[in-house]
Amino acid sequence: MDTKIVEINSESLAAAKKVIQDGGLVAFPTETVYGLGANAFNDDAVKEIYRVKGRPQDNPLIVHLHKDYDIGKLVYGVPSYAVKLADRFLPGPLTMVYKSRGTVSAAVSCGLDTLAVRIPSHSGAQEFLKYVDLPIAAPSANISKHVSPTSAVHVYADLAGKIPYILDGGNSEGGIESTVLDVTGEVPCVLRSGLVTREMIAEVAGDCTVFVPREGVKVRSPGMKYKHYSPDCRTMLFPYDEIGKAKEAYLRAQADGTRVYILCDAACAEQIGVKNILCLGKTEEDVAANLYGKLREGEKVADLIIAVAPEKQDGIMVGVMNRLTKACGGKE
Ligand code: AMP
Ligand code: MG
Repeated sequence: MDTKIVEINSESLAAAKKVIQDGGLVAFPTETVYGLGANAFNDDAVKEIYRVKGRPQDNPLIVHLHKDYDIGKLVYGVPSYAVKLADRFLPGPLTMVYKSRGTVSAAVSCGLDTLAVRIPSHSGAQEFLKYVDLPIAAPSANISKHVSPTSAVHVYADLAGKIPYILDGGNSEGGIESTVLDVTGEVPCVLRSGLVTREMIAEVAGDCTVFVPREGVKVRSPGMKYKHYSPDCRTMLFPYDEIGKAKEAYLRAQADGTRVYILCDAACAEQIGVKNILCLGKTEEDVAANLYGKLREGEKVADLIIAVAPEKQDGIMVGVMNRLTKACGGKE
């Protein structure tokens, strides 16, 4: 199959709609990462997402809606705090997990009685969702476990030959996947951290907990148990206060003839003073936005990426650290 990267206009939207209506897959931009979308009502189309990505069958998908879609068709029992959160943060990088009406394909939620729903703010995503006017089930548009895509070119690198169209909406500004929030309980609970932080949610909802996976406790967001976001090369990860050790590891690797790069923020780059740097930028927002792009850049030139964690570990850095640990922390 020929894969085309296309600008978003009336012609490409019509072509994308036809593919979706026929049960096919289309990649589209969002403000977090690119998504690989299918009609959420079509069982075969949803199953095709898992097949194309090589995604584990027990890792449920998020349904994407345009902002005028009636969410009541898909979910029920929406608590008043979730309405407040929607008013404050949507459209935007916040996914909420509701009680499902079971109207979409059971493959979307892997048989769970809940449904994760997101209304992206990216104008291209909204145009696409409005044009097809269907709930679109979509995970990130990468091969499972590889680094998530933040540009059309990243999607092409992973999925060329497997899907007909990639709608090009430029670089994803947010850079890490949406916050996933369980709103089926009395108090909202963060299942995956992201750009909408626990503190931001608690301020609106009054309270907010964070799900911490423990041995023997059933994982509430199945996707979180897998190794993820990994570049196609060896990796190491050091905390910020071990910059010295990271530099030693770099110099040792270089002496062995290994093509080695340090992945870190601008403050660390200045301090560490080595030649091969994949710099994530200065601000927290820059670090989140550049993380996946730099991991993809790194895997092309390096045998080994040595990541140094940012000094700050709160706010949106919680989400960044979660991704960085899964990408470079070496845990299966
Ligand atoms: P991705 O689409 O690759 O960003 O992954 C979607 C994330 O949402 C994964 O971490 C899933 O486990 C999570 N998710 C999707 N649906 C549900 C659900 N019904 N309950 C809990 N987590 C969900
Ligand atoms: Mg993903």
